[in-house]
Amino acid sequence: MELPGRIQGKLEMKTKNNSLGEIAGELKKAKRVVIFPHMNVDGDAMGTASSICLGLRSLGIDSYVYLDESIPNNLDFLEAGCCTGDPDIVNGDTTVLMVDCSSVSRIGRRKDVFLRGGRSICIDHHSTGEGDTTFDMEHIEPDSAACSELAYLLLMELGVTLDLAMANSLFAGISTDSGNFQYSNTTARTHLIAAKLFDVPGFDPKAVSSLVYERNSFSSMKMSSLVVERARFMCGGKLVYGEITMDDLERTGAQMNETDGIIQRLMSIDGVETAVIFKENGPDLVKVSMRARSWLNVGDVAQRLGGGGHVRAAGCSLKMGLDQAEPVVLDELKKQMEIDSQEKF
Ligand code: AMP
Ligand code: MN
Ligand code: MN
Repeated sequence: MELPGRIQGKLEMKTKNNSLGEIAGELKKAKRVVIFPHMNVDGDAMGTASSICLGLRSLGIDSYVYLDESIPNNLDFLEAGCCTGDPDIVNGDTTVLMVDCSSVSRIGRRKDVFLRGGRSICIDHHSTGEGDTTFDMEHIEPDSAACSELAYLLLMELGVTLDLAMANSLFAGISTDSGNFQYSNTTARTHLIAAKLFDVPGFDPKAVSSLVYERNSFSSMKMSSLVVERARFMCGGKLVYGEITMDDLERTGAQMNETDGIIQRLMSIDGVETAVIFKENGPDLVKVSMRARSWLNVGDVAQRLGGGGHVRAAGCSLKMGLDQAEPVVLDELKKQMEIDSQEKF
């Protein structure tokens, strides 16, 4: 079965883009590879990181994933024996590989460790990099539904024979970032790569989905209900927004890293084009998550607010209280709705 090459879309590609073959060649020469997924790891960041780490190890290349945070409970299996919290893992001889993000601002306190590496490589699928980080090599493909698709293609370039743990990581990454193959970023290639994973002995996508989607804590379900109950609408029902306060977390017993799926519930409401969730991360810090269904460019909104992401899934962090952040974001979204739909709301 032939997999289509890079899928061309509306987004402009970065001019400097190394092929995954070139990156594979560089990785094969590395003494040690340390992989950096973005902070607040998600299924795609961890799926990409652990599948590449396991693949490199299968070729005898000393590899690790460097993390300084805990992995959300439902993604624990993506650790796959790859993670270390030891900053001394990186020295001047190490090749550092950033995945599922393309800016040191997205790796938090691990930035200094990343910058200590000898050679730097980036593999990402976000269209709005902050442009504040240069890499010796990079492959950025915004039309890829998941960075884990690129991880699969890289592993093929490396000549890795996929094992079950690698297939599980790749499937978790692809299924979470494509919203179970439902989001508009899903392409023929997304399905073709997922189909290829069935060639791996023992691969059972239902088992992976059960781990990822059927281990919610009851507290997180209560949190989700609370957000839905309090949701508010604007723009004739096309925009829905909700909030998660520190007080809500305390009342429900949920952890902030369990709340990622809630926005999808809001997005599934009939007539909604865009959903926003405001997450209070401190007295003066709000993390904003935005999604769009089919025509609104939330990536542009996030970028104007100092964040980034994709055209239909983006976010930003604002150093202000909830009361201040909400009107700022809602106003920008309303403006974008008017630009993209040429309607007045
Ligand atoms: P989230 O809503 O946190 O799931 O994020 C949606 C998308 O937006 C992801 O692809 C993130 O990489 C991106 N994103 C979220 N927050 C930020 C931020 N502060 N800066 C840049 N990109 C972000
Ligand atoms: Mn991610
Ligand atoms: Mn991703």
